[in-house]
Amino acid sequence: ARKKIIAGNWKMNKTPSEAVELVNLLKDLVKNDDVDVVYCVPAIDIVPVVEATKGTNVAVGAENMYFEESGAYTGEISAAMLVDAGVKYVIIGHSERRDYFKEDDVLLNKKVKKAFEAGITPILCCGESLEQRELGVTMDWIRLQIKSDLAGVTADQVKSMVIAYEPIWAIGTGKTATSDQAQEVCKGIRDLIAEIYDTDTAEAVRIQYGGSMNAGNAAELLAKPDIDGGLIGGASLKADFGQVVNAGK
Ligand code: 13P
Repeated sequence: ARKKIIAGNWKMNKTPSEAVELVNLLKDLVKNDDVDVVYCVPAIDIVPVVEATKGTNVAVGAENMYFEESGAYTGEISAAMLVDAGVKYVIIGHSERRDYFKEDDVLLNKKVKKAFEAGITPILCCGESLEQRELGVTMDWIRLQIKSDLAGVTADQVKSMVIAYEPIWAIGTGKTATSDQAQEVCKGIRDLIAEIYDTDTAEAVRIQYGGSMNAGNAAELLAKPDIDGGLIGGASLKADFGQVVNAGK
């Protein structure tokens, strides 16, 4: 069986000192060895959060990284920097990066490959807009995203990674996908992985749901057979995150 993985995406929230306060607030609330717990934090919070989570069950992730090894890329952060700082996961292709920062699938594919090369586990995000859902092209769109983002990625790599299904209309809106809607797409993603790779790979890859997931709806979403965890924005910034982690038992 796949181990559940509950990751917080702090987005652009928490200064370094606030970050340490949040880690301390959550410390006892997120203790659960049956679940993988990850805090994906702003780059400037990585070092203090790694320090503050030492000796706990929490792993630290980044929210973004660049694909080049090093050099003249002002403002960017490399995979090697993340590894050296103690980062284990990196979110790639969040819809906010795709929309506001114009990241496309060609770029995201390079980032995914670089993360694997560096030994960081990518959490690859995909998801449709409200307009796409209403047009009935949700799964076509997600298939395109995943096929491009995983071009050249091996089956063994896919087995170790995390894919996050985040319908854009459910992000930060308080409007969660129903557990049936989320299950349908997560299963569609798993079927696609079986089609591109094989059933072993599809059975191994962990698929999260993200979008207004919280203490109230987590248990129902996590009970679905193809939902292996959550990527949590707003609710990861408060004590409720402990309840989300423990809904994943
Ligand atoms: P919310 O949980 O705030 O809707 O954000 C979801 C998300 O985008 C996680 O990456």
